[in-house]
Amino acid sequence: MGEFALINRFFKDICPRAQALDHPQALGIGDDAAVLAPVPAGHQVVVTTDTLVEGRHYWADVDPQALGHKVLAVNLSDLAAMGAQPWAFTLSVSLRSPRPQWLTAFVAGMSALAEEAQIALVGGDTVGLGTDAASPESFTVTALGLVPMGQALRRDGLAPGDCLWVSGTLGDGQAAVAQRVFAEKLLWPQPRLALGQALRGLAHAAIDISDGLSSELGHMVRASRTRAQASGTSAGLYAEISLLSLLDCLGSLVRAAMTDEGLDPLQACRQAAASGDEYELLFAAPEAASAEIMRLGRALDLPLTVIGRVRSAAGSAPQAEPVVWIDAQGRRLAPDLAPAAGFDHFSVQP
Ligand code: ADP
Ligand code: MG
Repeated sequence: MGEFALINRFFKDICPRAQALDHPQALGIGDDAAVLAPVPAGHQVVVTTDTLVEGRHYWADVDPQALGHKVLAVNLSDLAAMGAQPWAFTLSVSLRSPRPQWLTAFVAGMSALAEEAQIALVGGDTVGLGTDAASPESFTVTALGLVPMGQALRRDGLAPGDCLWVSGTLGDGQAAVAQRVFAEKLLWPQPRLALGQALRGLAHAAIDISDGLSSELGHMVRASRTRAQASGTSAGLYAEISLLSLLDCLGSLVRAAMTDEGLDPLQACRQAAASGDEYELLFAAPEAASAEIMRLGRALDLPLTVIGRVRSAAGSAPQAEPVVWIDAQGRRLAPDLAPAAGFDHFSVQP
């Protein structure tokens, strides 16, 4: 099958009737570039991109339907974390060979999520690596979203006193990789789009947990300190997290390890805090918003758990560590008992 036959057969029809292409002057796949419908008045465009590489982000024998879902899902998770509504996306594929059965399943997984999120595939690129190439296959999605002007959920808006919340459960992303088992969490992440959009105007800051709670918390605190410093307010922010509060949101694989293998609760929480591939939202909101957020969780049928607070260091010296882990008695955990940092491509070898 040639490149153009492949594009026409597999990629031409992924949610083509979504809003971004629903305009007489709009143009989808087939020309040198796509031309989208006008951006709705009073909105900003949000852009994100993410790549999945064979052997690095997924195993070569992955279920292709799950992979098609996941490469779009990880991008939608970034839109969710910004409070954005999905609009349009592009897809670049680098394949050793065009395998029709494999691609049919890949596209089925991607189409189902695209329809659900109402996001149109508007273009992309197709690269043949050569059948005997040693290069890994890879898939890149660039997703565009819309957000009302000035209302994007940023990661740098933490304020002292804010409650820190996480959606869903934590720990199963890493547990599934370690056990090399099938896991919903790892293969079929559910981007928290409805939650992200509902948090606009309610949350001060949000981020999605792709590299692990502990490192995402560090990103939020450091970004918020920089912003606070720039605006001349207190820069001594830090996150105080009760490690055992994560017991309330452990994933089922981690829970099973506690009962079946005697994994101790502190160790289970440490694993959950360092686990990547979670795609849950971590967000901060003032205490006054708590009742509303709990109502939101019930309406979305999504567990939302408070795991800690944003504090500001006394005096003028900024708190050195961005994240302070405490035990059930409120005492600071020794550094060797605190969770490890999350995933970093350039500090961890596969
Ligand atoms: P060009 O050579 O002009 O850059 P291509 O030949 O790469 O264009 O692609 C032809 C058309 O098919 C373009 O509209 C492009 O966006 C689209 N396309 C190519 N690969 C993909 C893909 N994997 N998914 C979706 N659209 C694709
Ligand atoms: Mg061209």
